[in-house]
Amino acid sequence: MKPSSFKYLAPGTIEEALAIMAAHGYEAKALAGGQSLIPMMNFRLAQPAVMVDLNNLPELAYIRPEQGGGLRMGAMTRQSAIEHSAIILERAPMLHATMPNIAYSQIRNRGTLGGSIAHADPSAELPAVSVALDGRFRIRSHRKERWVPANAFFVGLFTTVLEPDELLVEVELPPMPRRCGWAFTEVARRHHDFALVGAAAAVTVDARGACEQTRLVLFSVGDGPVEAHQAAKMLAGQPPTLEAIRAAAETAARDDVDPGTDINATAEFRRHLVRVLSGRVLTQAFGRAHAQNSSFPA
Ligand SMILES: Cc1cc2nc3c(=O)[nH]c(=O)nc-3n(C[C@H](O)[C@H](O)[C@H](O)COP(=O)(O)OP(=O)(O)OC[C@H]3O[C@@H](n4cnc5c(N)ncnc54)[C@H](O)[C@@H]3O)c2cc1C
Repeated sequence: MKPSSFKYLAPGTIEEALAIMAAHGYEAKALAGGQSLIPMMNFRLAQPAVMVDLNNLPELAYIRPEQGGGLRMGAMTRQSAIEHSAIILERAPMLHATMPNIAYSQIRNRGTLGGSIAHADPSAELPAVSVALDGRFRIRSHRKERWVPANAFFVGLFTTVLEPDELLVEVELPPMPRRCGWAFTEVARRHHDFALVGAAAAVTVDARGACEQTRLVLFSVGDGPVEAHQAAKMLAGQPPTLEAIRAAAETAARDDVDPGTDINATAEFRRHLVRVLSGRVLTQAFGRAHAQNSSFPA
């Protein structure tokens, strides 16, 4: 299939891009890496009258360490740049470890951080990891600028809080807290396929080694990234023993998700994967948190 006809505009500044978005609203679509938008246009699932190419805006492509340990990344940062960044490895190791799971290197060479987040595919890795890492997003329009926490950005299937005249311009990750641990994993039919189910965990423990905070985020099990609040509540203040983790994983599978059946997997199989993957990421994340302080009980 070929896309329906559209007007192609390639602004040279972010202000120009925002003015075009403001003028055309729902008729316009931003083009980032094109790895999702172009196939959708070819299938006529998207038929924008105006395509606003963001690829001439180098000011939107950067990875910037912040004082105090945080990170800022421009929306047009290529996924491959994140994958190969030493700063990301040091400051956001979970994000670094996640990248090879996204499609293939050819797609990551074009696909962008902001494009994946704005696209909000419920099976995508980057939305889930940005929620697990407590990220927030800077959004701009001709009218205003606003920051939205990652856990309030995704509102439904392929749907975010972005207004038609808004662009996602930056992703911020806070510094890694003390005594923290993380883990990411997913199951796909073939490596590089979209995940049948994925899980990302970011945890902190207190000075005694008990669980202080747990952020367990599951994906490919709902309309967007799903935070396992019930499982996290069970672990709060508890020593993260294998029994406690097993019980939390059981709760995540039973109470936190409501997966559907599709041609790739049944709801029952997805629940099974949630149970197994939650157990794995929580065990690994708490293990990493404890490894930061050798005085904790094993
Ligand atoms: C074969 C194949 C396999 C894939 N496998 C995976 C996978 O395993 N996991 C995964 O997560 N993804 C996968 N993808 C998708 C890939 O990661 C895309 O790169 C990503 O979904 C979209 O990023 P993009 O930069 O290409 O955005 P585009 O395709 O250019 O845009 C996607 C959507 O986001 C909007 N948009 C883009 N940038 C902005 C912005 N700054 N502000 C507002 N709106 C914006 C566009 O208007 C469009 O609606 C796969 C793609 C293909 C073709």
